[in-house]
Formats: sequence, C-alpha cells, structure tokens
Amino acid sequence: MNYRKDKEQILAAIIARLKTLPAGTSKCSGGLFREVFPDVPLPDFNDLFDLNYALHELAEKEGLYLDGTHHFNKEEGLPFNLDFIVKPLKPVVSFDVVKYSESRWPGLPEELSIDQRNKSIAYLPSDSVDREHPAIHKCTAVEWDEIADFVAGCRFDQWEESYIEPVLDGTSWRIDLLKDNKVVKKSSGSNGYPNCWRMFTFLKAYCRRLVMREAIVNKKPDKCPFCTSTNLRQYVFGLPTAEAFDSSKYILGGCEISDHNPKWGCIDCGAKFFKGDDPWETDYWYND
Ligand SMILES: [Zn+2]
Repeated sequence: MNYRKDKEQILAAIIARLKTLPAGTSKCSGGLFREVFPDVPLPDFNDLFDLNYALHELAEKEGLYLDGTHHFNKEEGLPFNLDFIVKPLKPVVSFDVVKYSESRWPGLPEELSIDQRNKSIAYLPSDSVDREHPAIHKCTAVEWDEIADFVAGCRFDQWEESYIEPVLDGTSWRIDLLKDNKVVKKSSGSNGYPNCWRMFTFLKAYCRRLVMREAIVNKKPDKCPFCTSTNLRQYVFGLPTAEAFDSSKYILGGCEISDHNPKWGCIDCGAKFFKGDDPWETDYWYND
C-alpha cells in the first residue's frame, strides 16, 4: 500500500475509523494512520502534510468536525502530530453580524460587534459612560482581510449553546450570530469557553485595537497607521518638568505611571502606541 497510489482508500479507512469514535476523542492524523495501518510504513513528510489536510477537508463532507483550533498561534510540532478533537459537524450557519458581550462582575459589559455587510466593527469598553454609542470603525480592505480570516477560523457555527464551569465569580459571555437582523445562533458561557477561544481572543484584541486606535510597535512610527498623520509625539507621565510642559515635543499623559502607559501618541487622531515586541499580545492593556 502506498499513500499516493491508494490515497482515496486510505482516507476512507481513516474516516471510517473516526466515525466509530465517541465525540470529544482527541486524535492526530499521523497517529490515526498508524492505528488503521499498523503494518504499512508511515508516509513521508510531504505525504503526511497532505494526509492531514485532506483528512480535515474530507471529514467535513462526511459530517465530522476535526477541531484543532486550540493550537492556534502556538509554536508546536508538525501539524500531523498535533491533536484535534473529533466532533459531529453542526449545521453550517450563514450570518452577517457577530455580536459579543462579556461581563466581569461587578463591571458593566464589554461589547463588540462585527458587521460583515459594511465591514465595520463597533466596540463599547466596559468603562464607557455613554452606553448607547459604541465607537465604530470602518475597516480598510487590509484590516478586513485579517478580520474575515479570524471570523472564518473561529468557526462560530460549531460552537456549543453553552459552556458552564461552576465558579462563582469570573467572566460570563454571550455571542449572537445574526442574519438580516434575526438571531440565527446563540452561544454563551460562564467561565467556560470553546476550544477556539484563543483565536477568538485574538480577534477581539485586533478589533479593539482598530476601534480604540491602539497599536503595539517596536519604535515610534513615522506616520500614524490610523490617520496617516506624521504629527506623533512621545508621552510623558508623572509630574512634567518645565521643559516638557512648555515644549510641543511631548504629550502629557497624566500622573499615573504604570507598565501599560502608551509610549507615543498621534496628535491628530489620538491614537496610542505601546512599546512592545508582539503585535498579537492580547492582554497588553489589562493592568491586574
Ligand atoms: Zn492618527
């Protein structure tokens, strides 16, 4: 038996095996090949990559969802050695708006909505006083590409209706998918989360940054990525010196000094730039 020659037959045998497993079983494609064909030598690297990809694709046609989203953005091993969770495929839901709300007792909720019809996002931080008017950002084509990838990757249609962990305080959240202003799918959780939560957290952070005009950068940008202004200045925090107070070189950031203060700011649009290495850092702003 040879992977390239007998690919169809091999995939069908592995799918048949997957169908016998209880929902929630964790497997990897390389391991499945070994299990189903113990006497056949393992295919080479390229073929294993191909096997992994082909298996994920075929599984959905056969009513199975192989959920490996918990590996998102982690530096781990080769994809055919990474585990996925076998689940029955839920009906695919078509939606145009994702509405998300998250509460941490005793604060007000943080709200985010992503509108695929006009490629815009609306964001309401939990500390916002004006609860009726979230900040709205219309995405550029480049920004929207990124968001669309994440929305697709999160596989909202495969989320369970509820994720509950019995903890008294903590975080509760809900997500609604809407089509033509009608809710077509709901999901919620209380200290419990779907497998792809890491990916969703990245999506939230990315949207939040766009709306709040915040970016993590290594050095002072030459021009503002949000409004293209070149009028950028360094922040100073604490009691300013007479020089800082007088000159138009700085932005006075107030007295509170923390690790989470922005380093530079845009005079024209108020964008804040935080110094850091990882543009995907998600909890940069939480000062706990
Ligand atoms: Zn700007």
